[in-house]
Amino acid sequence: MYPINDLIVSLGDVPYSTDPIIVRTKSRDYYSISPMLRNSLGGKVADIVVMPRNTEDVATTVKAAVKHKIPITVRGGGTANYGQCVPNFGGIVLEMTRVAGVLSVGNGTVRALGGTMMSDIDHEARKLGWEMRLHPSTRSTSTLAGFIAGGSGGMGSCNWGMLRDRGNIVGLSVMSVEAEPRMLELRGHEVELVHHAYGTNAIIIEAEMPVGPAWDWRECIVAFPHFMDAARFGIQLAKESGILKKLVSLQEWPIADLMADLRSHVPHGHSMANCMIAPHSMEAFECLVADHGGSIATNNPEGQGPYPLPIYEYAYGHALRHVQKANSKYTALQGMFPTSNLLPSIEAVHKKFEGQMPLRMEIFYNQGEVVAMGSHFIVYESEQQMASLVEFMQAEGVNVANNHASSVRGVGIKTIDARDAIFKRTMDPFGLLNPGKLDFTDEDEQQATHVLPTSGWAFKQVKPA
Ligand SMILES: Cc1cc2nc3c(=O)[nH]c(=O)nc-3n(C[C@H](O)[C@H](O)[C@H](O)COP(=O)(O)OP(=O)(O)OC[C@H]3O[C@@H](n4cnc5c(N)ncnc54)[C@H](O)[C@@H]3O)c2cc1C
Repeated sequence: MYPINDLIVSLGDVPYSTDPIIVRTKSRDYYSISPMLRNSLGGKVADIVVMPRNTEDVATTVKAAVKHKIPITVRGGGTANYGQCVPNFGGIVLEMTRVAGVLSVGNGTVRALGGTMMSDIDHEARKLGWEMRLHPSTRSTSTLAGFIAGGSGGMGSCNWGMLRDRGNIVGLSVMSVEAEPRMLELRGHEVELVHHAYGTNAIIIEAEMPVGPAWDWRECIVAFPHFMDAARFGIQLAKESGILKKLVSLQEWPIADLMADLRSHVPHGHSMANCMIAPHSMEAFECLVADHGGSIATNNPEGQGPYPLPIYEYAYGHALRHVQKANSKYTALQGMFPTSNLLPSIEAVHKKFEGQMPLRMEIFYNQGEVVAMGSHFIVYESEQQMASLVEFMQAEGVNVANNHASSVRGVGIKTIDARDAIFKRTMDPFGLLNPGKLDFTDEDEQQATHVLPTSGWAFKQVKPA
């Protein structure tokens, strides 16, 4: 369909592969975590994987793609879980992991090339006493640019807020997709255009992110006989500004039993609050645990618990992967519980399915307010079943994003307005970047969007008049 041989000539010495196994592997991400996306995205494959070594190679690839009008799907670690990295219309997968390296650390920020692994950034920053303020649970397998373009938050969000909160992305150096690619430095409000846009409107070459002091974090599993006590504890822990923390993940019984790695470490029948706490905050943390009727089941330095992985690899998106090992039909929704009615809405959602489906949620800050994000683990039966759960949660005031869709609008975490349309047109005038994910025509975006009655997490920073 596309003139791939002509493209290869235009690429010059830029490394590439047309090996069908490599191309198929690099055309996937973790979308199979969703039973709905598993059906609709399987079989979508690129024609070629291009592996630039540096910014110049990226520019050469862009020029070649524009010359031959071939789509580009940018890829970092490929850990996205909505199929954001799947090339809807074939073409080029631009695998960015070699465009990597930390450029500077200091003055409260780190600047790195987009393809740098999140864990490598922390490794470098820690040498100078700093660490990334935020990282996803995929820290060891995902890239900085992939986190910015595909992620939303994670470890550190219970202290610093979500990735989209002001100040959590300082600057982005991005490349346009034109016959003569341009480099732009985006700062302030402009970074919102590229954040969570799934690589549809620019290629991130470098990013500048805030760092905070590096701590020797403790990771603890706190056991509670009743889930709602864990919920009260988690919300209070988030509010305790004197206790420095990096993770608050609440998981109702029998999740501990469904996770083979954690089963023997949590008393039978107990819900978990899985937390990361700075060492100097441990005494205050222990008091808070006791005040809420919890008991500390494990307490270890980060990554050294009596289970195989760091505790954060049992939270956020990782939690579902662990319970899917017990039953591959488990799935979940991404509900944002309302800050104004947090505990009552959790209680109502919990009560409705108590003893039938366990709840999992992380507690963190969103625009300065404590929120909870998560849902029940659901044994998937049908789209109709998912739709009625969405309707129930939304009736309780929970904003639900559609984690069973692949387009920016379909997922509903990012709010799209005229600024986005103008930016997209300017940066990608031929519509070559990740087509089908943000095309401003409904038809194209239907490609991998399972329509659920979700309201999304509508959000845009508001500028005072
Ligand atoms: C088990 C599991 C756990 C997860 N936990 C979390 C979590 O805690 N928090 C969270 O936010 N997310 C989470 N995710 C989602 C995902 O892992 C993260 O968002 C991750 O940071 C994505 O990085 P990546 O390098 O793998 O990006 P990729 O998957 O390669 O790409 C993600 C998106 O970014 C685009 N992109 C990649 N590189 C560039 C670039 N240079 N320029 C422009 N666009 C680009 C891609 O086109 C794609 O649309 C999880 C996913 C899984 C499967």
